[in-house]
Amino acid sequence: MNAVTPLAGRTAVVTGGTRGIGRAIAERLRDDGAEVWVTGTNRDGTEPDGARYFAIDFTINEAVERFASELSNLAPDVLVNNAGINRNAPFADIDFADFDAIHRVNLRTPLALMQAVLPTMRKNGWGRVINIGSIWSKLARPGRASYAASKFGLNGVTTAAASEAAADGVMINMVSPGIIDTELTRRTLNAERLKAILADVPTGRLGQPEEVAALVAWLAGPENTFVSGQNIAIDGGFTRV
Ligand code: NDP
Repeated sequence: MNAVTPLAGRTAVVTGGTRGIGRAIAERLRDDGAEVWVTGTNRDGTEPDGARYFAIDFTINEAVERFASELSNLAPDVLVNNAGINRNAPFADIDFADFDAIHRVNLRTPLALMQAVLPTMRKNGWGRVINIGSIWSKLARPGRASYAASKFGLNGVTTAAASEAAADGVMINMVSPGIIDTELTRRTLNAERLKAILADVPTGRLGQPEEVAALVAWLAGPENTFVSGQNIAIDGGFTRV
């Protein structure tokens, strides 16, 4: 194993790799030696240097099916299902169009993409899938029903798929970030709510996308030979107090 580029010779796909956590993951996997493909929604491509780009909107089922078929031809060694959306609303005001869009991007697409890549990974006897969850896959709070439902669901998909694939050398796990310093966070939490949430985080600060990327890189790498089906929180201790 090469300690500097542990993913040399591997191909990795990171969905939502243009910004935030996904971009940090794509850059880290690239720096670890993988050939990296990322997805985003813009036609012109805003991918990290050295990465290849697919433009795709995961709210459109037919587009996801086309992409899944391309992915099964590409046959990546590593799949990181990172793209995610969130629209908070009080329970009584949940809009079903929003609920469906959240579930298409956060739950249906990861499942479809896993279906596309797992047969080859299992045949090859090696593969890694990391699904990006959230602390809201373990807890829920007012306004978060749709998002939490999608991430709790992704946890179930992760665990079930892992139990089928682990014996073939395919490790499937979920990484559940706490409050990370990204555009999504800045958009969904105002300064006052952010301060209130940080009061409950033992480390007392936002996490950085690079910290999440380091955990994902370890799970994706050759050192992970026995972690399977887990939902690992990276949250500064938030879910433990
Ligand atoms: P960002 O909003 O910063 O980035 C989202 C990424 O997903 C972008 O690359 C975006 O592409 C892509 N994307 C957005 N909508 C769609 C869509 N309809 N179809 C396909 N791709 C889409 O997100 P974060 O980095 O903050 O979050 C990444 C993941 O981490 C998500 O799964 C989120 O739920 C999870 N998470 C985030 C936390 C945080 O604190 N930020 C905390 C816990 C979990 P484009 O740039 O083209 O729009």
